[in-house]
Amino acid sequence: MASSAKKVFAASRLPRHTGLSAWVAMLPRRKEKPHLEGHATADVVVIGGGFAGLSAARRLRELDPTLKITVLEAGVIGEAAAGRNSGFIIDLPHDVSSQDYGSDTVARSREAIEISRTAIALASTVAAEEGWSRDVFDPCGRYSVSIGSEGDHHLADYAKALVKLDEKHQLMTASDIADVTGTTTYTSALFTPGTVMVQPAAYIRGLADSLRDPVRIHEKTPAVQIEEAGAGWLVKTPQGSIGCGRIILANNGHAESFGFFKSRLLHIFTFASMTHEFDPVRLPGQRKWAATPALPMGTTVRRVEGGTGDRILVRSRYTYHPNIEAGEGTLRRASAKHDEKYRARFPALKDIPMQFRWGGAMAVTLNAVPAFGEIERGIFAACGCNGVGATKATANGIAAAELMLGQKTRMTEIFARFDAPRSLPPQPFRTIGAKANLAYREWRAGAE
Ligand SMILES: Cc1cc2nc3c(=O)[nH]c(=O)nc-3n(C[C@H](O)[C@H](O)[C@H](O)COP(=O)(O)OP(=O)(O)OC[C@H]3O[C@@H](n4cnc5c(N)ncnc54)[C@H](O)[C@@H]3O)c2cc1C
Repeated sequence: MASSAKKVFAASRLPRHTGLSAWVAMLPRRKEKPHLEGHATADVVVIGGGFAGLSAARRLRELDPTLKITVLEAGVIGEAAAGRNSGFIIDLPHDVSSQDYGSDTVARSREAIEISRTAIALASTVAAEEGWSRDVFDPCGRYSVSIGSEGDHHLADYAKALVKLDEKHQLMTASDIADVTGTTTYTSALFTPGTVMVQPAAYIRGLADSLRDPVRIHEKTPAVQIEEAGAGWLVKTPQGSIGCGRIILANNGHAESFGFFKSRLLHIFTFASMTHEFDPVRLPGQRKWAATPALPMGTTVRRVEGGTGDRILVRSRYTYHPNIEAGEGTLRRASAKHDEKYRARFPALKDIPMQFRWGGAMAVTLNAVPAFGEIERGIFAACGCNGVGATKATANGIAAAELMLGQKTRMTEIFARFDAPRSLPPQPFRTIGAKANLAYREWRAGAE
């Protein structure tokens, strides 16, 4: 006999942020969308107002403008990872290599590029519709930069792979990249033009504000419980509830807080610092540029041009937190690393200290696949950003919306082919393994 017990998924924890992100601090105050009070109904509830959730809501609305869609955001739009990242919407995969570059690898890389460009297309459409300035959305490309021969080789190798993929790029010498960045630290660079740079908090706020009726957004409204209710679901929040037919779960690592993808998501944090403003004449080179490291665990650096002065952003360090929370001590240690990297690159700015420090959570899977698909009847996951959520989470949200509405598209086709996230080793081996792996890879990245 079939069991009549209704399914209940209760959140064991809610997001908590580490430090105040410069991106939010630099924006004017904004009126938050009201929190949910009392009982409401919707066709679809989206849990999470980051890249994945807001992109899913946008795609649902595009496909069926009659759908009643409600987005629940635990905190304030722009304060979680989607608004506190370094702002790179990257079009090319990090890990292409020209060695053994067979047709399978080329095909996989092309699909990864297609995923990224689908995300960039959504972002570009919103930017054009909303008339965003280049301070918010700048299709300016990015520099991959190296410090030392291992990074130089990696970039040369990467450039060969880009030739096979027929992707535009330009290898640069130490002196070329010094002309751009005003620092002589870098030994070579590779410019690729397809990356879009955003002010991430402005981007994610703007994406939320572009979602007009019939999409509703409730901020400071965490989903605390999801329970079966007849043919649909009841989503409970601290001061209300919503009955709905279907759900898109777009809360990244916090999917696990509801018991989904248990022992399949690695909760990795990374950290950033941003300086006080400085007079632009203090640093030669261009006033706006963005550089990622040649080696995977190195340091991201960005110069941000402002009306009253410029700033430098430094992002580095990765730490593992199985409880999805990084404390002040971890932030302090990451900040010390940022200062060291900053001083090494910009000795001329040694009197300009950091003004803002922050960290944020990412959810990574062992086999680098998304946590995607219909995970319960009517509940669709768009989680597991794998560290580059500006593209991967955006495309994941689009694919989840399309799958929910029965659309057959390139994204649903590509996402359907991903394996399920692999199971992580049990504790304490998981923590020991994750920490050892991160420490080893950071050591490999050396000065980068
Ligand atoms: C310092 C830093 C720099 C980074 N730089 C880059 C970069 O340059 N480029 C890049 O591509 N990626 C970068 N990342 C990673 C990127 O930010 C993430 O991959 C991305 O934000 C994931 O998007 P998402 O929508 O899946 O999840 P999130 O952005 O985490 O959004 C999930 C949302 O769900 C909400 N939520 C959680 N639980 C609940 C609940 N119970 N109810 C309601 N809402 C809930 C959260 O508050 C959050 O707003 C960076 C990350 C950090 C921390």
